[in-house]
Amino acid sequence: MSYIITTLCLGDKYIPIKKHWLERTREKCKNVKDIVIFDETNISQDEIPSLNEYAWWDIIRLRKNIGLCSSNSIPIVQIDMDIILEKDIQSIVKLPYDFIISTEIGGNKSFPRECSEKLGFGVCTGFYVVKPTSIPFLQKIADNIFNKKYNSVSDQVNIMNYIVNHPHICTDEICILDGIEFHNKKIEIDGILIGVLDFNIITRDPVLSAHQYGNHINVDNVGGITNFIRYFYEPLENLPLTCRCGKTHLGDNSICKHIDMRK
Ligand SMILES: [Zn+2]
Repeated sequence: MSYIITTLCLGDKYIPIKKHWLERTREKCKNVKDIVIFDETNISQDEIPSLNEYAWWDIIRLRKNIGLCSSNSIPIVQIDMDIILEKDIQSIVKLPYDFIISTEIGGNKSFPRECSEKLGFGVCTGFYVVKPTSIPFLQKIADNIFNKKYNSVSDQVNIMNYIVNHPHICTDEICILDGIEFHNKKIEIDGILIGVLDFNIITRDPVLSAHQYGNHINVDNVGGITNFIRYFYEPLENLPLTCRCGKTHLGDNSICKHIDMRK
């Protein structure tokens, strides 16, 4: 199955990461048809909505991904530049869902909490797969973002609100990927299937190298870009933990429960 990977690179923050991310993504994904970076060179001024607030770029990214999927008729995989791939994602793309998305950290308290409390988990738009059959659903999400239906321009907030406010059936599903058992959620909504990937497939704040396909690491949690780039090249277990625990400058005073997991 051929597919295209896209990412968004706006502003200075991710520019030093770009070459490392591109090299890693190409190295792991042998069957990718193309890797497209959305940046100042291909986003026109009239595509930028006058929303001028946090996450306004989510709608640009979503519209561009819908457009690419529609014109190429193959899956489009959006991957944030702070996700370091560890394996070829081909088997994820092939999963029999119309729209595939990763899981947010925090379980039933993940952002946005008012939705994850109802659903029992949250989705993370750092990694998602758009297939042609999901375009009508995602077009509704894009329209809702534009109209600020849920008072937010964040794609994650809009997807979560749409799900909890519309009839849906959510079931647990065992999923074998490359011989490893994972536990996905399957959401039936508007006649399509959304697959929410096991947290351990695209994992946030990784502690150990297990069977994950990608490590989603918050650049600020690890102290900035220079530190983040080390996660491409050094074994995870030798690097500082990526969680927020105990990082008072990030406003977290909790005691880290992850240290013991590496022993
Ligand atoms: Zn911790």
